Amino acid sequence: MSIYEEIEFEDLNYDPKTQMYTYPCPCGDMFSISLEALWDGEDIATCPSCTLRIEIIYDEEDLPELREESESEDEDEKGGQGEEGEDDKEVNGLAEKSKKVLTIK
Ligand SMILES: [Zn+2]
Repeated sequence: MSIYEEIEFEDLNYDPKTQMYTYPCPCGDMFSISLEALWDGEDIATCPSCTLRIEIIYDEEDLPELREESESEDEDEKGGQGEEGEDDKEVNGLAEKSKKVLTIK
């Protein structure tokens, strides 16, 4: 298993809709790795069209907060903080905006 290149986290393209990081592959496709995978400690992004892979250089503190899409585990975190969770959509929108600000350096 060989690494084609080591890529700085800042150089990746981030899509907040899918929470996926991508980087152009020389074959014309894109390396991709999900934010969730990064939080899980994964640092290898693969290309779906060839066997190349890149290693992402990052610190966990660089990562934007992971947005839970599936089940609302949010309720545990927010419990008792005065936020009732009815504004979830708005909160997510704000989080997305701040993510963009954080990502574009
Ligand atoms: Zn490729």
